[in-house]
Amino acid sequence: MYCSHCGKEIADIAAVCPACGTSVENKIKPIEADKSSFWFGLLSFIFPIVGLILFIIWKDSMPKRAKSAGIGAIVGVIAGIVLSILLTVLISALGFMMTEIIADSTYYM
Ligand SMILES: [Zn+2]
Repeated sequence: MYCSHCGKEIADIAAVCPACGTSVENKIKPIEADKSSFWFGLLSFIFPIVGLILFIIWKDSMPKRAKSAGIGAIVGVIAGIVLSILLTVLISALGFMMTEIIADSTYYM
């Protein structure tokens, strides 16, 4: 975890920050801070790269929140891939239909 006073990385079991001497047990409550977050999941869904970064940052200090961001990022990436496949299929289907219509119209002319 990190000291709330000076921001230095300290051991999770430490009660007092070795750098500045601030009592860290009373100020940092990692259990309360770490909870799964819908909003971070949504953010990660929209920006998977952000979710990935958040996941890397939080995976040790806040595993639950990191999981939200990670899942959001994965879902976002999958949704993006599925959407682009659907779009490609749709465009090629539309293109095929257009050539069919053109072919038909030339046939009847
Ligand atoms: Zn400190």
